[in-house]
Formats: sequence, structure tokens, C-alpha cells
Amino acid sequence: MSIMPKQQISNKINLLTKHVLELPEMDPASRRQALMQIMHQKKQECHDCGNCPGTCCTMKSNSMQISTLEAIDILIYCLSQNWDLQQLIQDLENTVTEFRLDYLIQARPGQMVRKNYTCTFFCQTSLACKIPRDFRPYGCLAFNPVSHDQRGLTCCTDVSGKQALENLEKSLLLINQKLRRDCCIIDEKNPIPVAVLNLLKLVRN
Ligand code: SF4
Ligand code: SF4
Repeated sequence: MSIMPKQQISNKINLLTKHVLELPEMDPASRRQALMQIMHQKKQECHDCGNCPGTCCTMKSNSMQISTLEAIDILIYCLSQNWDLQQLIQDLENTVTEFRLDYLIQARPGQMVRKNYTCTFFCQTSLACKIPRDFRPYGCLAFNPVSHDQRGLTCCTDVSGKQALENLEKSLLLINQKLRRDCCIIDEKNPIPVAVLNLLKLVRN
């Protein structure tokens, strides 16, 4: 994918969030508050990811899919940190190619197979996510260890995580309607690299 100047992408994303989606009161951190409280609670119970090689971010068990709004949050973060967008696009495209995320397989009518992949935003050296919690996909925040030092073997989205995700979906119905109406975005969920690449294509046009 060819790239447009960073400033132009930044302006388009601002337009999308501030004017089209009218999001100022719905900043990324506020939307994630309930999920972060759950993470905090787990940490207090000594359930954290400290000893894990990042099982839920690698092809071992990652098949995370995100909405366009979550892709917008990721891109807002990347732009704020002045990431090299050309490199980012290359990395995203490499992930899509390596794990055949552009090749859909139907499991049954109307339902596609969710493919596992190692996330583009997983740092192989620090074994951590490059996206801070305020901007991280909701599903990633909701997926937590349930016991100490299980290295990802028993992690899950527990009842409180599922409830927080459900509440988020309900509160975002209006935004998704606006995305459909004003931006012609069908807010279906996609693997993280596909969703971010789709967004980059959208703001380029
Ligand atoms: S966004 Fe971060 S937490 Fe989520 S799968 Fe990718 S690396 Fe893991
Ligand atoms: S949530 Fe579980 S699998 Fe994911 S990094 Fe933490 S301990 Fe590992």
C-alpha cells in the first residue's frame, strides 16, 4: 500500500473521530476504564502476565478480532508516537501474508474460520504489547490470567470481562451507526492487522 503524508493521515483521523464520530467525551482511556479496573483487580490478586511468554499475542492462541473504532485508537497512538507509518504498513502486510489473514475460509454458512496469528504489535524482545492499555483492543484487556504463574495456560475472559465487553458494545451502538451512515464503514470485526490496514486504506481515499 502506498502511503500519504503522515500529517494528512493525522488530519483525516482527527476528522473521523472529532467531527464524524463526535468522540471527545469518549476518549480511548475512558472507554477502557471498566476493563482496566478488572485488570487491576487481577493484579492485586497476584494474577498478572509477568512470567508469560505472551501466549495470547502469538499464533499459539491469538485470533483477536477488533472493530474499526479500536483500529482508530491504535492508529491514534501510533501517530502520537510518530511511528514510521511506512514501516508499520509493511509489518502489518507481512503479518497478513504470513498468516493468510486475507484468505477467508468459511466454517459454515455466514461464519468464517478465525485464524491464529502472531500480532504485529507483539514485541518479540520484551514479550509485551507495544500498544499501551489506554489504546489496546478491548478483547486483549478483557483476557486475563486467573491464577498465578500459569504462563497463559488457564487465561480467559471471565464473567466480569464479558460483562464489561457487552456494556461497551451497547454503549457504542450509536457510534457504529454513525460509522455506517457517514463513512460507509461496515463495522465488522477483523484480525488486528487487517483492521488497521483497512483503516489506513480508508483515510487514504
Ligand atoms: S494488541 Fe497487544 S495485547 Fe493485543 S494481541 Fe496484539 S500484542 Fe497482544
Ligand atoms: S493474558 Fe495470559 S496468555 Fe496473555 S500474556 Fe497474560 S498470562 Fe500470558
